[in-house]
Amino acid sequence: MSDSWSIYADWNPWHGCTKISAGCKYCYVYRQDEMYGCEIGSNVARKTGAFDLPIKRKRDKSYKIPSGKVIFTCFTSDFLLKDADEWRPDCWRMIRERSDCMFFFFTKRIDRFAECIPSDWGNGYDNVLIGCTIENQAMADYRLPLFMAAPIKHKILAVAPLLEGINLLPYLDNTIEEVSVGGESGVNARPCHYDWILDIRRQCIEKNVPFRFHQTGAYFVKDGRTYRILRKYQLSQAHKANINFGIKNYFVPAKADTEGWE
Ligand code: SF4
Repeated sequence: MSDSWSIYADWNPWHGCTKISAGCKYCYVYRQDEMYGCEIGSNVARKTGAFDLPIKRKRDKSYKIPSGKVIFTCFTSDFLLKDADEWRPDCWRMIRERSDCMFFFFTKRIDRFAECIPSDWGNGYDNVLIGCTIENQAMADYRLPLFMAAPIKHKILAVAPLLEGINLLPYLDNTIEEVSVGGESGVNARPCHYDWILDIRRQCIEKNVPFRFHQTGAYFVKDGRTYRILRKYQLSQAHKANINFGIKNYFVPAKADTEGWE
């Protein structure tokens, strides 16, 4: 797995986000800002110094981010955040220019998709992979019909932080390239039940959709017992469960929005 990381790069054009649903309650971005004593509110979106990183060049004129990278995009915010509407067109231009890289972002705002795409989007850019994040049945039932209908070339579902058992069957079809499931991190994390994870796995197998158990979360309930899992073991413990199904290593988790994949 570690070798696959060499193909990844990060691009965080803005930082800060507003909470919109239950999965946001203990958002990683807010927790990190608090930990580092950030003085600007986490709910205030601001451009970062890396805004134009994808088109930055080195002295020899080559791009700083080499060709062929999967670029995790906007991992301490939401790419479809309303407060970022005036910045996003420049991002689309950069994404278009870097058709040699794959841009990968998560969103809880798929309901804003149609108003956020560029005029030449058509059926979607080949080099954009979008993860729709859901955390409970209500958000699955609200967001996934919109996601299914959206013209996007590469789609995954990020089911995290998983807060309850979810019936995904109506929304699993061959356009979904992966379902990744994980619990919640942090001291206040809500527990994640292994039974919920196994049930989603069963649904994925039934629909022949790749499934990944991404991380356990901090409080993991198995066979009636609650286990406290330290952050450093949450990914490896999930990996050890060895219950992934049909995945390609291509889709390895990003940061904030998978930290909870929130
Ligand atoms: S969990 Fe995601 S959508 Fe919610 S506030 Fe945090 S970054 Fe924004």
